[in-house]
Amino acid sequence: AKKYGKSTIRHYDPAIAARQVDRLQRISDLEKAVAEQQFEVHYQPKLSTRRSHALHVEALVRWHHPSEGYIAPTAFISIAEETGMIVDIGDQVLTAACKLIANQRKSGAPALRVAVNLSVQQLYDANLLKRFEDILSRHGVHASELEFEVTESAFINNVDAAKGVLSALKSAGASIAVDDFGTGYSSLSYLAKLPIDTVKIDRAFVQGVPSDSDNATLCKAIASLAHSLRMSVVAEGVETKQQASFLSGLDCDQLQGYYFAKPMCESDLLDYVNSGDWQ
Ligand code: C2E
Ligand code: CA
Ligand code: CA
Ligand code: CA
Repeated sequence: AKKYGKSTIRHYDPAIAARQVDRLQRISDLEKAVAEQQFEVHYQPKLSTRRSHALHVEALVRWHHPSEGYIAPTAFISIAEETGMIVDIGDQVLTAACKLIANQRKSGAPALRVAVNLSVQQLYDANLLKRFEDILSRHGVHASELEFEVTESAFINNVDAAKGVLSALKSAGASIAVDDFGTGYSSLSYLAKLPIDTVKIDRAFVQGVPSDSDNATLCKAIASLAHSLRMSVVAEGVETKQQASFLSGLDCDQLQGYYFAKPMCESDLLDYVNSGDWQ
């Protein structure tokens, strides 16, 4: 006679068990990292194709693990999102960005405008606006010195909820960019419904242009769509001179990628800003 229900029999798979242990270890390491603020923020310039008095940069988080060294966001952001830790990590990134902006302003050097990535879990966190207001006012930073990058997948299920949060950020003075545009398989209707200032063409479309004629057509169509909606256009992942000249020929407003500058630590960024090479 069977002792256990037939559907509950599971075969023990050591590979799966090992992965689960890894994951739990990762989660507890990450909890510690949040508590001990083991994150560092690097900044990648977004170069304007027109004259600009402020340097625009994107804040990209790195985890400075005590024994493993730097860990890239792709290795921990999804766990941080699933566990909700992204909310605290996001606050730490915004705090670093605000400190940088305020210090730079005090030094009288060229202004910085910092773009911060927002995950969907942050966007729909009921306290987001309150917490962001606190962080900004603590550092004397105005929302107009910030930009928020949100992927379109964040809007798919709930355009109305997204509209509430984005409109509040926008009316405080911040700009809103759609990140990884074109990769979220969503309808385009949100573009007209949400207060979006900027569209970032995903690196996947920038790859291989102009000789990849399908990608070249897509970049051209995205740039023209965004401009007709009076939005500005940023191309990300620009790695070659050919890509850069093709994309500036499409009238992209900003270009970002290894061809111009990699993400850099705060002190390297300050050297870069003060060198004036970006102007
Ligand atoms: P993303 O927002 O699309 O950021 C662009 C990624 O492409 C960055 O990777 C950047 O270092 C990389 N990149 C920039 N230029 C080039 C290039 O020319 N070629 C190539 N191959 N790559 C380039 P990173 O820093 O590893 O970040 C990966 C993703 O992690 C980001 O993608 C973003 O989705 C997420 N992330 C990073 N920081 C944060 C954060 O503070 N909060 C949240 N919620 N997500 C973040
Ligand atoms: Ca981004
Ligand atoms: Ca992106
Ligand atoms: Ca991305």
